[in-house]
Amino acid sequence: MIRNKPFVLNKCVRPKVAFFKLTSCEGCQLQVFNRESGVLKFLNQMEIVDFREAITGTSSCYDVAFIEGSVNNEEQKMKLIEIRHRADTVVALGSCACFGGINQLVASCEKGISEADKGKISPSPKTPKALDEIIQVDVHIYGCPVKKKELESIFPRILSGKPVIHNKYPVCRECKQNHNICLLDLGEPCLGSVTRGGCDAWCTGSGMGCWGCRGPIPKVTQRQLERLSQRKGIDFDSLAERMSCFGGFSNLLCQQTEDLYKSCQL
Ligand code: SF4
Ligand code: SF4
Repeated sequence: MIRNKPFVLNKCVRPKVAFFKLTSCEGCQLQVFNRESGVLKFLNQMEIVDFREAITGTSSCYDVAFIEGSVNNEEQKMKLIEIRHRADTVVALGSCACFGGINQLVASCEKGISEADKGKISPSPKTPKALDEIIQVDVHIYGCPVKKKELESIFPRILSGKPVIHNKYPVCRECKQNHNICLLDLGEPCLGSVTRGGCDAWCTGSGMGCWGCRGPIPKVTQRQLERLSQRKGIDFDSLAERMSCFGGFSNLLCQQTEDLYKSCQL
């Protein structure tokens, strides 16, 4: 773990901001341009000096670095360490950067491949890592992809050096606020009751159960989920399958469950 500059931003009116990608789909970076009505106001708060989706120039001089994606190889690891040395503030943008995201499924997929078949496929990368397994990360912005509204609310706090405090309530609360019908009551697996809120019940509001892309709320245990699945008559296996998807729940799943469901059976 690299310990670097403290989470204090240089006082400047328009900080130099750079966006980088490691192994990612660029969906989180695209969110920067979402909510068109406010996009100019948002972008006017910063001077973008490196962002391959927006400008052709690059720079090695920046105050804030947003990094999307997991670390999948040595080259990315070295790039990440260099960014950490250059930036005052490093922001992990999205589930891949925060937890390994869907990329972390690649390692578990290998477990499901027979020895005979292994020789027929290209070797997969080593287990993709979250950024904070390698460097100190100052701010995490969760989600697959991140929510632009949340990005807009967090960015001024980064500029003013204020701590970013994430919601402790679950997606479930946002469902209730939005008067959504509980999907568990309809027999649909859903992690909304244990997943960090802030997405405004994005999937559940559209009738799809939550897959936990924003990671768990504090103090959740696997036992709680087992009891919930019994109470609601939901197969626990389907909840465990969802917990293994983005990597945020990896500390929660007991080894036995993890071995069972991280075997490319999704
Ligand atoms: S978190 Fe999701 S949207 Fe963002 S880069 Fe990863 S896969 Fe793409
Ligand atoms: S409902 Fe769940 S899976 Fe969907 S965006 Fe929100 S946290 Fe992510």
